[in-house]
Amino acid sequence: MNKKEFHNAKKTCTKPQKIEGLCYEPLGMPTQRVMRLNAQYQMQEENAKSKEIIRHFITPAELLHLKNSKKTASYCTLPTEKQADIYKYSRNKMVQEQLINRGITDPLVLHAMSIVPRHLFVNEALQNTAYDDRPLPIACGQTISQPYTVALMCQLLMLEKGMKVLEIGTGSGYQAAVLREMGAKVFSVERIPELYHNTKKLLKNTLGYTDLLLFLSDGTLGLKSFAPFDRIIVAAGGPTIPQALKDQMEHNAIMLIPVGGEKMRQSLVRVFKINGSYKEENHGSTTFVDLVGKQGW
Ligand code: SAH
Repeated sequence: MNKKEFHNAKKTCTKPQKIEGLCYEPLGMPTQRVMRLNAQYQMQEENAKSKEIIRHFITPAELLHLKNSKKTASYCTLPTEKQADIYKYSRNKMVQEQLINRGITDPLVLHAMSIVPRHLFVNEALQNTAYDDRPLPIACGQTISQPYTVALMCQLLMLEKGMKVLEIGTGSGYQAAVLREMGAKVFSVERIPELYHNTKKLLKNTLGYTDLLLFLSDGTLGLKSFAPFDRIIVAAGGPTIPQALKDQMEHNAIMLIPVGGEKMRQSLVRVFKINGSYKEENHGSTTFVDLVGKQGW
């Protein structure tokens, strides 16, 4: 599309569009307002929890379509689901190609990752790469894990609905949202105030995950007053497994944690607590940001 066409297309669609109840932004860039409106709309819907909450926006290609079809009213329909929601399309592609094709089979994981809008957990400038097969930077020098890593960890957790899960390293909040959509009661701990506050706003105000419990503290010490936990998942790598976390495991609990004597080089370890003793399993090498704290680096 050249500049003139883009300009003309933009003129045909200068107000937010309303399509099947969801608000659409007229031009590319997302706004908090649209996210809030969509979240509110979804909240009103029956069964809102099982529905995805996505911020749709009109892409230049869709603007051209609107222009060509001469639909300038504030209500319009888009030709295919793919055009109406490019992120949903990218998400389904990610689930098929990066997860199912590589052996992720847990239906809870596949369902959750096909509905959590990963693009909302990264900076706006990176949203079009949110479903790529790689980790992405988030604020404060931290990262959101590659989709496959999130899925593998969630699958190795062998989660059942209703379980109490402690997550160390809230970061962007993406994994917390996935765990929540898998049916867990999530307690998530972050040590960096900026991440904690921004992510809390996103998860609770924008996305409506009001039952996620978020904490600002040193996660290497766990959350003693809420222990024990059925599952513990650590999204950062430390030199050893914090004893505090082992102590907060319920009978028959499982913990997933990257462990390594060298920074940014860990093994993904799965710990089982069976009859009061601990069994460890190695699930290959991995790279996570540092687990910083009293029982970490
Ligand atoms: N699960 C996150 C991944 C975030 S990266 C997501 O989906 O985006 C790891 C996070 O662990 C970072 O935000 C980092 O600040 C946090 N972290 C590191 N050490 C921690 C500690 N001791 N307690 C709590 N969070 C910690």
